[in-house]
Amino acid sequence: MKYRCVRCGRTAPSFEGFQCGCGGLVEVEHRFIEVSRETFDRRLGCTEEPYNSGVWRYKELIHPEIGAEQVVTRPEGNTNLYVRGGVSEYTGIRRLTMKHEGENPTGSFKDRGMTVAVSEALRAGAETVVCASTGNTSASVAAYAAQAGLRSVVFVPAGEIALGKLAQALAYGARVIQVKGYFDDAMRLVREASRQLNLYVLNSLNPWRIEGQKSIVFEALQQMRWIPPDWIVVPAGNLGNTSAFGKALKELGQLGLLERMPRIAAVQAEGANPFYRLWKDKGGRLEPVNPSTVASAIKIGDPVSWEKALDAVGLTGGTVEQVSDSEILEAKAVVDATGVGCEPASAASVAGAKKLAEAGVIGPDEEVLCVLTGNILKDTETTIRYHSGGFSSAGRMNRPVTVDADLGSIEKALRSPT
Ligand SMILES: *Cc1c(COP(=O)(O)O)cnc(C)c1O
Ligand SMILES: [Zn+2]
Repeated sequence: MKYRCVRCGRTAPSFEGFQCGCGGLVEVEHRFIEVSRETFDRRLGCTEEPYNSGVWRYKELIHPEIGAEQVVTRPEGNTNLYVRGGVSEYTGIRRLTMKHEGENPTGSFKDRGMTVAVSEALRAGAETVVCASTGNTSASVAAYAAQAGLRSVVFVPAGEIALGKLAQALAYGARVIQVKGYFDDAMRLVREASRQLNLYVLNSLNPWRIEGQKSIVFEALQQMRWIPPDWIVVPAGNLGNTSAFGKALKELGQLGLLERMPRIAAVQAEGANPFYRLWKDKGGRLEPVNPSTVASAIKIGDPVSWEKALDAVGLTGGTVEQVSDSEILEAKAVVDATGVGCEPASAASVAGAKKLAEAGVIGPDEEVLCVLTGNILKDTETTIRYHSGGFSSAGRMNRPVTVDADLGSIEKALRSPT
């Protein structure tokens, strides 16, 4: 394998940094051996490490060269698909499937990239790993570093990350640094600190994160019996996932394992929409914004992987959409009420699919896969605030009632509407 700059195309046989001299990000380019779907199908239900992982099942497509014994895995992936009448009715998309990445070991898709990048960090002889995070990356870094015996340092925007995520980072033993600023400030500091203090960076500008996250697409296709949907809809923040999906589809195509190309729809929050703006302006350079959204996982104003993501959306004939916070919260309430549940940022995919269907971009009979990126228990504050009337528009509120400890009060509470 080699490392290739996505901007100027320069390649290097060994790792020289996440960024090329020209400023472009680097990606991993494999020389694939011939693989077949049967190899992956045979490993379904396997109990042997690391092939029991929904990432390492596709090892030949993700990291063919690493030894199986060098892999740090929980295992991750093997997340379920859900079809729910309530969500189809809400979005107006009859054939809508959700893939729940909140079912990963630390509760988000970040684990899929982390197992690969932490395994690679060990191979590279790293001692301390670092990331900037809106929360889920820090939880994942902390857990995988603990397992691998590495020190971890995580930079998070002070007061801006959901408590479930902060709790995980603390509990798993990361050094948590709360930066007074946005995620983007934390990201800038990580890039500076890593150079000067020799820390191994586990953000998605690390190309091995992207390799691992390709497995969301591989696994979804395998679960759909290798028949691709028409659309794959994904919440978009730092744009690592969007990039990974594009790379996965491109490589499956090159290997002759893709029947037809699904379109990627990347969905941003209106208040953190630099990639949406770039798309609407038909290219040029990404203009950073000061981000503002209730969906803290995608509250990012200066996404690192925008060039890779632009290629991904373009390659698949896809699109970029934006949704408001009230659309996100309403979609979340719908997903939650079906018993599936997700964190706010995840619901951006469902809200975006609805908007694209209403605009006629997604056809009424098209098959749509929405990726739910994080677990419902990550951000309980927002959920409780929504159901307690803390947001001005909360049409699906389920307000808790407090009663005196007697049967009469309970009867009364059960009779009154919520
Ligand atoms: C990280 C994250 C995102 C955004 O993914 P990017 O790869 O940064 O675009 C969306 N939802 C959740 C729950 C996340 O943790
Ligand atoms: Zn370059």
